[in-house]
Parts: sequence; C-alpha cells; structure tokens
Amino acid sequence: MTETRHITHWIGGKPFDGDAARRGDVYEPANGRVAGHVDFASAAEVDAAVAAAKAAFPGWRDTSLSKRTSVLFRFRELAAAHRDELAALISAEHGKVLSDAAGEVARGLEVVEFACGIPHLLKGGFSENVSTRVDAYSILQPLGVVAGITPFNFPAMVPMWMFPVAIACGNTFVLKPSEKDPSASVRIAELWAEAGLPDGVFNVVHGDKAAVDGLLHHPDVKAVSFVGSTPIARYIYGTAAANGKRVQALGGAKNHMLVLPDADLDLAADAAVSAGFGSAGERCMAISVAVAVDPVGDELMAKIRERVAKLKIGPGDHPESEMGPLVTKAHRDKVASYLDSAVAQGATLAIDGRETPVLGGAGDGFWLGPTVLDHVTPEMDAYKDEIFGPVLAVVRAGSYEEAMELISANPYGNGTAIFTNDGGAARRFQNEVEVGMVGINVPIPVPMAYYSFGGWKDSLFGDSHAHGMEGVHFYTRTKAVTARWLDPSHGGVNLGFPTNG
Ligand code: NAD
Repeated sequence: MTETRHITHWIGGKPFDGDAARRGDVYEPANGRVAGHVDFASAAEVDAAVAAAKAAFPGWRDTSLSKRTSVLFRFRELAAAHRDELAALISAEHGKVLSDAAGEVARGLEVVEFACGIPHLLKGGFSENVSTRVDAYSILQPLGVVAGITPFNFPAMVPMWMFPVAIACGNTFVLKPSEKDPSASVRIAELWAEAGLPDGVFNVVHGDKAAVDGLLHHPDVKAVSFVGSTPIARYIYGTAAANGKRVQALGGAKNHMLVLPDADLDLAADAAVSAGFGSAGERCMAISVAVAVDPVGDELMAKIRERVAKLKIGPGDHPESEMGPLVTKAHRDKVASYLDSAVAQGATLAIDGRETPVLGGAGDGFWLGPTVLDHVTPEMDAYKDEIFGPVLAVVRAGSYEEAMELISANPYGNGTAIFTNDGGAARRFQNEVEVGMVGINVPIPVPMAYYSFGGWKDSLFGDSHAHGMEGVHFYTRTKAVTARWLDPSHGGVNLGFPTNG
C-alpha cells in the first residue's frame, strides 16, 4: 500500500484541524491511484474561514500600500522559487506535464507582478476648485471579504487571476479550489504566510457544492469570482447576485480557429495541434474546432496528421511526455464517448486517440490520446458540446462569411483565432467576431496580466473580466468626496440645489 495524503483547509493562517464529515478522493490520473483525501467543508467550516477573513479585514485594509506591496513582492519571489515544487503538485493531481504546470505558475505570477503595482493602480482622481475653493476627489476602497471558486484545470493560475489583485486592493480572501486537485492552493497559502501576509487575509476551504453554497449565501462575503463550466457559472451568477453580491462568473468555451486559404498552413497546423492537445485539451483557451475554408481542408488535415503522429503521451513527470492523462476516469470516459457519437452522426474519425500508446504503459491511468474528427458539422454533439479533452473537430466551410457566421452563432464566446496572411481579413475578423479574446496567427492566447481575461456570451456572466484594471475595479468601490475647508468667503445658508460657482 502506498501512503495517501490528507489535505485540509487553511483558515486564519494555519491548517484547520477539524473532523470533516465528508471527504473526497484525490487521484493521480497517470496511474489511477487514490493519492489523497481532501476534507469537504460544511457551512460551519465556511463560516470559520469567512470569520477569519472578516477579522483580518480592518487591519489589512489599513495596512499601508508600501507594506502591502512588500508582502506581494516577497510572495512573488517565494512562489517563483518554489515553481518546480508547485508544478510537481499540480502535475501529480491534474495529470498535465511538468513544463505545462510550471508554465501555468509563471502565467499566474504575471498577475502577482501586475498587483505589485497596486499603489499606482489605486490612485483616484483629484479636481481642484470644482467650485470656488472646493475640491473633489475619488478614493478606491476594498470591499471586505471576497471569495474565489476555481476549476480543476488550472489549480494555480486561475486562483492567481483573483487573489493577488483582491489582496493588493486591501480585501481578505477565501478560496474554494477544485476538489480534484486541491494541494497547490494549500502550498500557496503556506507561501503567503512565509511572505508575511497577516493571518486570515488568505484562507482556503475545500469541498463541493455545500462549500460553494456556504459562500454564496454568507452575508459577510461581499463579492464572488468564479471560473468553471457554464451551467455552474450561470448558477453562481444568479445565486450570488440574488444575495446582493458583486459577481463575475467565467464559464466554458468552444474555441474556433479559422484557417483562410492564404494562411501559412504549417503555422496553422502547429497551432491547431499545440492548442488542441496541450494539457490534453483541458484548457479554457484550447482550440476545439478548426474551421478550414475551402480549398485548404485536405492539406491542413494532412499537416495535422503528420504532427499528431509524432506526439508522445505519458505521465506528467516522464521527461519525454508532451501530453498527460485526463483528470478523472469519469471525465475520460465522457470525452471518449464523443468519438462514437460523432461517427454515428456522420463525422470521420481521422485519428483515434484510444489507440495511442502511452510511455511506460497505460496501466489504470485515465488515458485518451489526441483525437481528430474530420467533416464535423454543427448539428453533431461533438460540435455542440464543450468536450474539454484532446478531441479536435475539423469543420469545412465554403467561405470566410460562412465560417464567421458559425463562430459568431456559437453560444460560447471565450476565445478564437484567425490564421491568414491578409491583414484586411484579419482586421475584419477582429472587428466582426462575437468573441471576447482573439488571436491573429496566434493560437488563442491568454491575455497578459495587464489586459483582463474574459469571454463573451455564455463564457462570462457579469460585467467584469478577470485581473488587469477590470480586476482592480471589481475588487474596489469608489468613494467620491467633495471638500471645502473653512474660508471666510463661504456664503452662509442656501437651500438651492448646489451648483458650481
Ligand atoms: P466545474 O464547473 O465543474 O467546477 C468549478 C468549480 O465549481 C469547482 O470549484 C467545483 O467544486 C464547483 N462546483 C462544481 N459543481 C458545483 C455545483 N453544482 N454547485 C456549486 N459549485 C459547484 O468546472 P471544472 O470541471 O472544474 O473545470 C472545467 C470547466 O471550467 C470547463 O468548462 C472550462 O471551460 C472552464 N474554465 C473556464 C475558464 C474561463 O476563463 N472561462 C478557465 C478555466 C476553466
């Protein structure tokens, strides 16, 4: 028997020592082993975390900007120094390869770096003499206790879209990470403590719907940031808003890549394979549909085949592995079910990932190799659903207009990309497409930390995208002050509506 780990909450600056009535299994997807058990929070444990965050708020809110920033800088240095350790935790529980896991930590750290500039970002406005010897100014103040609820696919990066900005703004934070890969968040909490963050400013509660509902209904939680699938995002948005909270809820995706006949097809095929199968397609910015405009479909398919044939599939810590397993057996089986349904509905199974060899052997791991479905049409389930696995659908379109109509009609609007050498076509695409994040000859890029992240339509509920200036606005509220200091010229009582003079 190999040892299993016990993962518990982090409340008030230390691990929470309680008896959980419910626990979840945490797997190692590469071999199917249960590697640990994670405590599931009840309403009482959520309450304890929110109470710790509430108690820490007055002190943290009034901590000077330079002190807050120095804690952020120390956290940035510690997280960078422990990047490989965080990557190993992520890779073991999620399955993604180590370099990919290290990459998500690096992208998350960019948001910490952005948040280190908080003194500048929190500057309000000041207008002198809005009326005679009267000044007006604005102050950006934190909200209080804010919560983050995050998905399994980026256990470090997605929480890092939220808490660096929230904490830098002076809020205190309760994170409810995915129960499938919870360990990175606890290690992050330890690094915050080592960086000198006061106890209670950053807390972690684990669990499922019960923990989430505890946060959504808690009167002391002022704002909720969510990232996950569309049905849950819709539920979070509705419930949190009905309880009077500020909410941003980022949902699922079906990202199309449009390949025009004049595109560099080698570049386009590299992009389709990299963004289709990186992290086994379990990325919200993965390309799941390639739309090839006639007549390039066959040539693009040939180039995709060549590249997929060379991909090496294996455990995340295998030095040659480029793609790992899926996160759970249930998810693997659901993803694989689309292969049969697509064929039954008329698609061509061009590459069958069920036959892909696994470095070191498949054992009981949750494996599915890169799969390509060709001649997919919009009525098929493999087109309509977010599969969230290593399945690339290729759709043939007769013209740019036909392809554009398909992309803009899709209910999801997270990311899209166009591959072309025609600047005019690219410009028209960026102008017309009904999608929130666009790549031009770049396979669906995650925007830099100073450009906020978020999709349109069913990919985002709420009006704020994550991080960047939109994050600063989301985690603060503005106070407008009009001030007059005693001056002999003040005019005495006046019941008229104040106007400027
Ligand atoms: P999920 O929606 O199943 O879970 C997300 C979070 O919600 C988890 O913390 C989970 O515990 C919680 N949750 C699950 N069911 C719940 C319920 N019934 N009530 C309350 N809370 C519940 O998502 P996932 O499978 O962990 O992650 C994959 C999904 O996330 C994909 O749809 C992907 O597109 C999406 N995603 C979107 C973005 C984005 O930026 N738009 C980024 C990453 C992932």
